[in-house]
Amino acid sequence: MQKIPILAVVVPSYREEAVLPETHRRLSALYDRLIAAGQIAPSSYILYVNDGSTDATWPIICELHRSTPYACGLNLAGNVGHQQALLAGLQAVQQRCDMAVSIDADLQDDVEAIPRMIECYNEGYDIVYGVRRERKTDTFFKRNTALAFYRLMKWMGVKSVYNHADYRLMSSRALQFLCTFRERNLYLRGLVPLVGYRTTCVYYNREKRFAGESKYPFRKMLNFAIDGITSFSVKPVRMIFWIGCIFVLIALVVTLWTLHSYFLHNVVPGWSSLMISLWLVGGVVLISLGIVGEYIGKIYIEVKDRPRYNVESLLMRDESVMKQSE
Ligand code: UDP
Ligand code: MG
Repeated sequence: MQKIPILAVVVPSYREEAVLPETHRRLSALYDRLIAAGQIAPSSYILYVNDGSTDATWPIICELHRSTPYACGLNLAGNVGHQQALLAGLQAVQQRCDMAVSIDADLQDDVEAIPRMIECYNEGYDIVYGVRRERKTDTFFKRNTALAFYRLMKWMGVKSVYNHADYRLMSSRALQFLCTFRERNLYLRGLVPLVGYRTTCVYYNREKRFAGESKYPFRKMLNFAIDGITSFSVKPVRMIFWIGCIFVLIALVVTLWTLHSYFLHNVVPGWSSLMISLWLVGGVVLISLGIVGEYIGKIYIEVKDRPRYNVESLLMRDESVMKQSE
């Protein structure tokens, strides 16, 4: 008989006193149902990660831990941001569960997608992305900036799942591999596709935040976008190189035009040499910057020290099957 899997839901929480009790109530109801149906083990739990909140978030987590089943807590000593807090939680559960789901504390992502994610897990998928069906509840501004961002990421060559935030299920082995990435500029949405294994998506409708306010003001969103691009792509550096090449081409055209004017019209002394050198030097400087940038890009990739590959299984002569993880 198949072993009933242990589920850990990881909830990063920053100043979420207004939503946590309700969040816990909804998640607990789901746990009760899933345990009764034999879909998850009774030792399954919910890990609330307090990301250095200054309000009553941690006392509420402690109280939930004391008075209700399932609730567990991880208290970070200071605010480190959503991505780092989420990774801290995932790292804490990686050895203590069979599958982990990450979800925001405000439950904008429909918890009813979790049973469907578990079904996918049972079918043998290691990573199940929660994907928003539509973004009606988001503001016009947020919807469009998000869309532009996904397009830009794609153009930059970053693998990412469209309309997927950090709502996903990962098996323990996928999680363990994710935790071997050592980089500090975390952009989990870009890292998870690098894990490999079988992946799939479940679709859900995104709700409004039911209490409290967004912890992602425009400034943070912009930083997040810049982090996402610069952690995965050296394309901006290459662009400098190509702009330099365009400048040199323009320099050639300008040179012809300047010489033409120099010989045929009466031009101010010094104008011709200035015009030519201006474009040519500009182009050469940009190309040089691009070349230096290319090396810096290589160094950047090296210092990130990402794992080169993830081995799923290895067939050898002496042992019939060797698996990296069972
Ligand atoms: N969050 C966090 N640390 C931060 C900011 C946010 O742990 O510094 C958490 C927050 O508590 C929530 C999740 O990240 O669980 C997403 O934040 P929010 O719902 O405010 O973002 P939005 O849905 O508006 O993008
Ligand atoms: Mg939210």
